[in-house]
Amino acid sequence: MARSRSKGWPDAPEPLPLPVVDNHTHLESVLAWRADGWEASSSLDAQLERAAAVGVTRMVQVGCDLAAVDWTSTMVGAHEQLLGAVAIHPNEAVRHAGIQEVAADGLDPEDPYETSLDEAFAHVAEVARDNDRIRAVGETGLDHFRAGPAGRAVQREAFRAHIALAKELGLALQIHDRDAHDEVVGVLLADGAPDRTVFHCFSGDAALARLAVSHGWFLSFAGPVSFGPNDALRSALREVPPSQLLLETDAPYLTVHPFRGRPNAPYLLPGTVRTVAEVTGRSVDEVCTSVVATSEAVYGRW
Ligand SMILES: [Zn+2]
Repeated sequence: MARSRSKGWPDAPEPLPLPVVDNHTHLESVLAWRADGWEASSSLDAQLERAAAVGVTRMVQVGCDLAAVDWTSTMVGAHEQLLGAVAIHPNEAVRHAGIQEVAADGLDPEDPYETSLDEAFAHVAEVARDNDRIRAVGETGLDHFRAGPAGRAVQREAFRAHIALAKELGLALQIHDRDAHDEVVGVLLADGAPDRTVFHCFSGDAALARLAVSHGWFLSFAGPVSFGPNDALRSALREVPPSQLLLETDAPYLTVHPFRGRPNAPYLLPGTVRTVAEVTGRSVDEVCTSVVATSEAVYGRW
């Protein structure tokens, strides 16, 4: 017997009136997700078709562990809908550095990797340099929820190396900032942020949004902007001009209301588009148009 439908893939939303871009998605993890309700969900072509059918015609595929970096590099070459971002995720950096400590989340640390952080980062740099469909370095940054003191120190140096790489190659930067707002801003200002710096899944308040906007950084909002308790995030959203606003699923996580807890994929971005239109008092058409223009300003045309 099938498991409860409440855990399965949500139905496709009503199509958007205009195309839009998903600024940050992990399709390799979407395809690995096992859920009921949609048999073709483990095919990349089916995912891309289902997204396009509701207006999500293009996306930035983010590969931020070694296997996903290679998968991303291959897939962005084979599918014109996709651009890529590559990095060693801050929590992966800790594993490559061989650090095992319990952090704020209280979970047991994950096993360390054999491959050193230097080797892993060198591979990211090579892929980013050689593949012109890789247009961003990310996600990189700081995760104070998942990392303890030794891990945070490693994350900070890895973040700095990724910033330097983005600047060297003239690529955008996608930032992961979990419970580390002040420190992320501190590193960006000390080292100098790349010209196109994006806070992926922005999670700060209105004050941080104003600060980021004032520095010319881009803010990308995901499903949590639709969650009931997140008034501070909606206040932050109202501070962001359309020319610095991006939207994303961060699939397979953070599924937009009312599907929280169910698997996420790019075809569910319309719920976030509609939430953003409502919160900002703009039309859905305006949001789609500006997100496409801003995405192309950040990543170039594709
Ligand atoms: Zn992500």
